[in-house]
Amino acid sequence: MDLQIEDKVAIVAAASKGLGRAIAFGLAREGARLVICARGAEELEKTAREIREETSAEGLAIAADVSKTGDIHKVVSETLEKYSTVDILLNNAGGPPVGGFLDFSLDDWQKAVELNLFSTITFCREVIPHMKKNNWGRIVNITSVAVKEPIDGLILSNTVRAGVTGLAKSLSKEFGKNNITVNNICPGRILTDRIIHLASVRAEKEGKTVDEALDAMGNDIPVGRIGRPEELANLAVFLASERASYITGTSIQVDGGLVKG
Ligand code: NAD
Repeated sequence: MDLQIEDKVAIVAAASKGLGRAIAFGLAREGARLVICARGAEELEKTAREIREETSAEGLAIAADVSKTGDIHKVVSETLEKYSTVDILLNNAGGPPVGGFLDFSLDDWQKAVELNLFSTITFCREVIPHMKKNNWGRIVNITSVAVKEPIDGLILSNTVRAGVTGLAKSLSKEFGKNNITVNNICPGRILTDRIIHLASVRAEKEGKTVDEALDAMGNDIPVGRIGRPEELANLAVFLASERASYITGTSIQVDGGLVKG
């Protein structure tokens, strides 16, 4: 299937590692022109180099902290300077810390909102006027299966990602006639540094090794294993494409059947 995104300009946030990195590779393989960002310049440059070597895609790598409004403005304005437009926006960031309600200060809540909700709002505000002008746009947000079923010990994620879901649905209604689709992807357990971190927290609590905790996390998934980043990236690339033109306002799990509802 030709996804018809060759030469489309795509911003992929938080793309030096994990899910963002896999999505950036996926879009590059389809011929999109890429702008990737993450906080650490060194790791980001390494990812950009690997993408160029494997796919010969052209692109920009911009060091940016998505919880800072000024950094997001810098990413979008440098993208516009080089490519004059933005067609695809992939909203992503690191995950908030593990803990229950009494573990967090108001400052922790503020940081989680800035990292996982406000970053999405800010990026959308910056790019939607350009998508509207082109009468074409694709916005894909990485959230979590926490929006389908709250996860024990992840209260910040459970709460803040629900805001992204509400935002995405509202935007999908407001900008549907402008050919701008807005969808969320809800990862279950996909093998990245984030899931290894969550496994190590569980291992410590249960007196297990990290490998044992990872095995246990795979065993209670219907397909019997943790997912691979490219298995999630395949959906992200499809949703970012022309071919997904009639899919908007959805939250789709990539979880091997983990959510039972
Ligand atoms: P990861 O830790 O492997 O990678 C996170 C990426 O985000 C890295 O490139 C990191 O540099 C970047 N990043 C972190 N904070 C940033 C910031 N403030 N500004 C810019 N870049 C930043 O995580 P991942 O597994 O790829 O997860 C991506 C998102 O998906 C996270 O929000 C995570 O909570 C969520 N999620 C992941 C899973 C999973 O199974 N991996 C499950 C549910 C939800």
